[in-house]
Amino acid sequence: MSDPSTTTVNQPEPSGHGDGPLYAERVKVHPRHFDGPFRKWKTILLWVFLAVYHCSAWIRWDRGPGAPDQAILFDLPGRRAYIFWIEIWPQEVYYLTGLLILAAVSLFAASAIAGRVWCGFACFQTVWTDLFMKVEAFIEGDRNKRIRLDKAPLSMDKILKRIAKHVIWLLIAGFFAMSFLWYFNDAPTITKEIFTGQIGGWTLVVMLVLTGMTYIMAGFAREQVCFYMCPYGRFQSVMTDEDSLVVTYEAWRGEPRAQPGKNRDFSDRGHCVDCSLCVQACPTGIDIRNGQQMECIGCGLCIDACNTMMEKFDLPKNLISYDSYTNMVAREQGKGKQVHLIRPRTIYYAVILTIVATAILTSLSFRDRLEVNIQRDRAPLFVTLSSGDIRNGYTYKVLNMESSAKEYTLSVEGLKGATMTVIGDEQTDQEVLDLKVKGDHVGTFKIFMKAPRNMLEGASTDITFVLKDKETGEIFNQSTVFRGP
Ligand code: SF4
Ligand code: SF4
Repeated sequence: MSDPSTTTVNQPEPSGHGDGPLYAERVKVHPRHFDGPFRKWKTILLWVFLAVYHCSAWIRWDRGPGAPDQAILFDLPGRRAYIFWIEIWPQEVYYLTGLLILAAVSLFAASAIAGRVWCGFACFQTVWTDLFMKVEAFIEGDRNKRIRLDKAPLSMDKILKRIAKHVIWLLIAGFFAMSFLWYFNDAPTITKEIFTGQIGGWTLVVMLVLTGMTYIMAGFAREQVCFYMCPYGRFQSVMTDEDSLVVTYEAWRGEPRAQPGKNRDFSDRGHCVDCSLCVQACPTGIDIRNGQQMECIGCGLCIDACNTMMEKFDLPKNLISYDSYTNMVAREQGKGKQVHLIRPRTIYYAVILTIVATAILTSLSFRDRLEVNIQRDRAPLFVTLSSGDIRNGYTYKVLNMESSAKEYTLSVEGLKGATMTVIGDEQTDQEVLDLKVKGDHVGTFKIFMKAPRNMLEGASTDITFVLKDKETGEIFNQSTVFRGP
């Protein structure tokens, strides 16, 4: 049963300690396929995540004339993000911060409950590596055939298989890169441009870099990315505790391990038959029987592998299982199940998630679709006209975040007799101005305000600009001062 090619375990030597080498040469991992619930869920999630990633940019969303009709679009030249009905302007980038906090806390919560479940099932690196491995297995066969092909001298069969594999990998990588571009451009337009060779400049650079990176990361680097490039695996231990569900070898039941004897008597030995199937199944090439390791991504494939062996010997399943340390000790001592999903750590995370999600949703629901900004001229502070009236200059900006044009009236409170003139407009010495701002635009108005000198409260008079939406009657106030002698 034991495969001699599997005895090498791809575990880097601890560096910087003792007399061990500082550099561990990579041992190529050829994971073996085993059916089982973890493999099944991994495959289902693989296709679900790929479908979501590749299809989401093609969902259309009607936002009215002139606005993009792509449901999810990060329009960098237009400095706007569209996510279904939500439209985010550059000054609202704090929503992105909120989303990043949500993502980080969700990751911490998932780790506290189920260890590296993100790494094993949902991480981009895992998903694409799994897909690349499927292609590899389809062309070159399962583990033993791949190992033999690796060792075989160059032949036509080997060359053709290698060409086929690398061409398909490159096509997948290119497709991934094109899909990424869909989120930053109109998807049908950029696709047409790619296939007709019309893209160039940065778009082409991004496409080529992403294609190359996906090809290298998923085709060659694979588990090395998790070992040496991703920081998450390094600090996962601080996010889990003795109640977190992690992939665990139940040594109390498995040891002392030994190859099965002819009589299959397990009465005075452990249940581990030392078949190394768990090592053969592991995409990172480690031996989970050595205990918790930073290299374990929590994919559970060793559980499926070991369970096939347990079934074969009529032994209880789950010698390797997704289990917590607390529950494992309880089982070892013959106590009942002890699973503690609700505990202080998970409660903190749930509270933080609820607060951040509520804050984002509330803010999105009540945010204004209009912003006003006023800047008073500082040079000169004021001008005394020949009539004796005092004049101040203002730059008044109205940001209309809706897709349709808006009409407003603008008046001033706090200064009797004040009139306004819009530069470059026909409105002169008016108490109320009519302002029009196009949809998705910032309207900038240069305004001169004039007031009788005897109406001023001194060198500085507090005033309020009152902007009223003609259609909805909504009012936006902005305070400033009117300066005088
Ligand atoms: S030890 Fe098991 S759970 Fe961990 S990476 Fe290997 S196969 Fe996946
Ligand atoms: S833990 Fe399971 S799969 Fe691994 S060597 Fe022992 S019996 Fe085989």
